[in-house]
Amino acid sequence: MDSPLANKVAIVTGTSSPTGIGRATALELARHGASLIITDLAVEGADGSVGTNAAPMRELASEIRALGGTCAVFDVDVTDRLAINRCVEQVVNEHGGVDILVNNAGSTVGALPFLDIESTHWDLSFRINLKGTAEFCQAVIPSMLSRGGGSIINNASTAGLGAEAGFGAYNATKHAVVGLTKTIAAEFGPNGITCNAVCPGYIATDMHTEATKRLATEAGVSVEEMARRRYEGVAARRAGTPAEVAALIAFLAGPGARYINGSAIPISGGTPVGL
Ligand code: NAP
Repeated sequence: MDSPLANKVAIVTGTSSPTGIGRATALELARHGASLIITDLAVEGADGSVGTNAAPMRELASEIRALGGTCAVFDVDVTDRLAINRCVEQVVNEHGGVDILVNNAGSTVGALPFLDIESTHWDLSFRINLKGTAEFCQAVIPSMLSRGGGSIINNASTAGLGAEAGFGAYNATKHAVVGLTKTIAAEFGPNGITCNAVCPGYIATDMHTEATKRLATEAGVSVEEMARRRYEGVAARRAGTPAEVAALIAFLAGPGARYINGSAIPISGGTPVGL
């Protein structure tokens, strides 16, 4: 088996969602030979009890091990800098360092008509989508520097390149993720670190389905009609799959992508992104 990521230690955030891009990415990196660290919030309860995301995380870890890979599970809310630092510290101690970071955790919190977005929506959107991504990068970069390089892939969105009405806080914070990505590439490219953003369009996950339902309710049309309207602007006339995004992320993490840095790459079935 071709294992381009053999002996690489990879952290993927936001992996609990059974339909999500994070889960598909962790599996794809494992198929490429990486040792996996999967993280999400609510793996543990506040009192150390079993959290709501414990079961899907356990199942994913088992699937990864069934592929022949190793997998460790961490409870990390990306809005909690101490939890991020604790996780990375432990990974460095136990695995010797970090080679690949996929900042996948994200949320459409504040996906509302612009005038309805409240301070709490702006704050949470910023803390999850931008600050969580930035602080995970800050936590792993020292280890990557001491290993002579690494690959960071941030899951932005076509909402980080253009804008769809009704997603103000999401659009703004995903644009910021693209800016963050370019900053890290410029600052650490000389040290062998690549940092790129993937910019998925419509991908068939729970997040996407919920957004379509909300837009359908607001417009007073059926979910099917809203899906048809959203896909009308997609050359492929369909949503993408998490596996299609995972394949791009695995490529960006691998040896064939060492000269790609600071890029924000749309994976959108041909959605116009420069709105
Ligand atoms: P998803 O299924 O909702 O996955 C998002 C994951 O992030 C979930 O596991 C979620 O956990 C986790 N998460 C949320 N807040 C977190 C926090 N504070 N700390 C740690 N983990 C947190 O959505 P997805 O569609 O796979 O999205 C994955 C990424 O792709 C996101 O960054 C999203 O913005 C981006 N993206 C998605 C699409 C699309 O059409 N689906 C398009 C462009 C970009 P819980 O389930 O417990 O909240």
